[in-house]
Amino acid sequence: MVEPIRQIPYEERLAALERAGYNLFALNSEEVYIDLLTDSGTGAMSDNQWAGIMLGDESYAGSKNYYHLADTVKDIFGYNYAIPTHQGRGAEQVLFPLLIKPGQYVISNMHFDTTKAHVEIAEGRAINCVIEDAFNTEEYHPFKGNFDVDKMEEFIKEKGKGNIAFIIITVTCNSAGGQPVSMENIKEVSEIAKKYDLRVIIDAARYAENAYFIKTREDGYGDKSIKEIVKEMFSYADGFTMSAKKDAIVNIGGLIGIKDDEELFNKARARLVPLEGFVTYGGLAGRDMEALARGLKEGVQFEYLEYRIGQVEYLGDRLREAGIPIQYPVGGHAVFVDAKKLLPHIPYYQFPAQALGNALYLEAGVRGVEIGSFLLGRDPDTGEQIESPLELLRLTIPRRVYTNNHMDVVADALISIKEKSETLKGLEIVYEPKILRHFTAKLKPVE
Ligand SMILES: *Cc1c(COP(=O)(O)O)cnc(C)c1O
Repeated sequence: MVEPIRQIPYEERLAALERAGYNLFALNSEEVYIDLLTDSGTGAMSDNQWAGIMLGDESYAGSKNYYHLADTVKDIFGYNYAIPTHQGRGAEQVLFPLLIKPGQYVISNMHFDTTKAHVEIAEGRAINCVIEDAFNTEEYHPFKGNFDVDKMEEFIKEKGKGNIAFIIITVTCNSAGGQPVSMENIKEVSEIAKKYDLRVIIDAARYAENAYFIKTREDGYGDKSIKEIVKEMFSYADGFTMSAKKDAIVNIGGLIGIKDDEELFNKARARLVPLEGFVTYGGLAGRDMEALARGLKEGVQFEYLEYRIGQVEYLGDRLREAGIPIQYPVGGHAVFVDAKKLLPHIPYYQFPAQALGNALYLEAGVRGVEIGSFLLGRDPDTGEQIESPLELLRLTIPRRVYTNNHMDVVADALISIKEKSETLKGLEIVYEPKILRHFTAKLKPVE
């Protein structure tokens, strides 16, 4: 879809930000010019997907769109069983309690926040084993989403394999900046899992972007198609949960895929019915499943991925050329600006990345999102603000929505903020709820 956007005047942006309590989540979308809050559900569907919407079979049971979706999952991932859900967290809430006994650990490179929440709701404990290089924003590493496999194996030995529920590989690693995981690393993780009799699940939101990085950065994959690479990646796992709002380019939808474990499939379907919906729709309309099936196929087209990731790189390059510190190399879906480096005079407890996000909104009407101490929150026992290892402003690029001219607006705005960066002020909280405060907290600039 093409929709008009408009930049409201500076005075109106200032009033909107004040009304929003200096929290960009509280802005109305009409107050935003270029919206880089998230790449989730914000992509533009293709002509082919919209045509599919018109072919929705809204039968309660046995919709033909479900069978198209299941056939597509078999074709792309090589998995026998597909279960639709309303979005990624729906897949997590159905599958995880079947795999976690209370007290068991789930090991990931890095858990996404809802993934961690569903591990904890199932009374499991979420452990991250990403390589240290993920936290060094300046140093080049082609696969910053990789597991530290030695650390992971040590952890399994220390706790005993009976205390591990499963291993979940997040591709790309969202929380580390959309950083990819190499095929070699996926293979190693899967070999260790086999040795200790553990299941491997893929958190598959960005399956295609990860495959693109393998094709362009890993030896031996340059001549393989994205589809071949995706199939190999998933051959090393036993199942996946997926938010289809990312690489499958739909506005709503999710999936569980199970390779060949029929018993697990049947158990998951039994949980699906009360939580999400009947087994052949799982909370989605028939038309949504059709758009999803078509989107899964479009997501693995190399030309599309080259344009998509090329646009993220374009923004990253412009910022780096201007000396603005970012997580390097850029990930698949976003550019992360290192606010700790750009605003060294603002301490973590005054939320430098939030201050930078607010400045960017005032400068040009661009909305990013803070990934740092404001997001992290307080220690549940002491109530003290925790210091995040990174203070990042995430500029998340929706799929097939903006042009590189829009990226220029964003880059130019950040460059002019850099020139007056020492005038930026930190923030203090005036209201916050106990959990997930970053969505609804209110702040004010420090005097
Ligand atoms: C978005 C996301 C999820 C959760 O999916 P929703 O569709 O938002 O419920 C889980 N894992 C990762 C890596 C994600 O990016």
